[in-house]
Amino acid sequence: MKIGFIGLGNMGNPMAANLAKAGHDVSGFDMADVTVPGVTMASSGPEAATDADIVVTMLPNGQILRAVANEILPAMRPGAVWIDCSTVDVDSARAVAEQAKEADVLAVDAPVSGGIGGAAAGTLTFMAGGSDAAFEKASPLFDIMGQKAVHCGESGAGQAAKICNNMILGVTMIATCEAFALADKLGLDRQKMFDVVSTSSGYSWTMNAYCPAPGVGPASPADNDYQPGFAAELMLKDLRLSQQAAESSDADTPMGQVATALYEKFVESEDGLGKDFSAMLPRFENRTRS
Ligand code: NAD
Repeated sequence: MKIGFIGLGNMGNPMAANLAKAGHDVSGFDMADVTVPGVTMASSGPEAATDADIVVTMLPNGQILRAVANEILPAMRPGAVWIDCSTVDVDSARAVAEQAKEADVLAVDAPVSGGIGGAAAGTLTFMAGGSDAAFEKASPLFDIMGQKAVHCGESGAGQAAKICNNMILGVTMIATCEAFALADKLGLDRQKMFDVVSTSSGYSWTMNAYCPAPGVGPASPADNDYQPGFAAELMLKDLRLSQQAAESSDADTPMGQVATALYEKFVESEDGLGKDFSAMLPRFENRTRS
């Protein structure tokens, strides 16, 4: 297939490389001067999108996505498929899908889980929103770039699933970290705490698979001085998207709200910027109740 790929950053770069490695003819574009193994670089987004059977975008936010949509949709051929893998707000995802429909382009919002490691290994999980026909046409690419794709519903449903998942992730990471900090103050050994919680009703992905305590549980960013991993500022971005969605749909999300405020403080006025989101544990460790 002829594929256009726009946004070749930390995630897009290895994803595009995997499509080229699988034998597809990939034309790529990024604002920054980048190269990707096996990918021919175009001089603009519309150039990468022209004549493509499928265009993939992997961009920083909804505002940039809307701007790129204005550029590429007029260049895409009718009947082509556009897969947007960026994590953006639900409203932007729905707006560009509507615009795509008017241009006779089949749009799928398909944000991912799995991080840079998953992008390089081709083991991402895709959460997709769009019509059955669009999802079916996008599926061969999901199979190359990932190991699982869930069709969540109509346009915007992929983004909705992603931000709900990450709101749970932010809240449970905070809960896990504050529980470790309390256990410390109660004189409980961290390994014992892990042994109990990871096999009891307090277990979670953040405890069992991504333990924020160094030297405890499987290897995680905590064992690497909290180098990301999944950076605290990206967690903050996703939590803010969850609260934006909660505002526009009038949903009551008190825990999500608190988690957003805590990550905001951690990233913007403490030392969380550039650290993994599990570095909440040393933050709690050094604090008292007052
Ligand atoms: P990144 O900043 O490394 O890459 C984004 C790229 O888009 C950059 O190379 C930038 O130059 C390019 N870009 C910006 N504006 C452009 C334009 N108008 N035209 C063409 N290119 C443009 O970010 P990333 O880590 O690759 O993340 C991309 C998306 O994936 C984000 O929405 C992020 O939230 C999401 N995501 C990231 C991770 C992760 O672990 N990094 C995990 C899951 C989801």
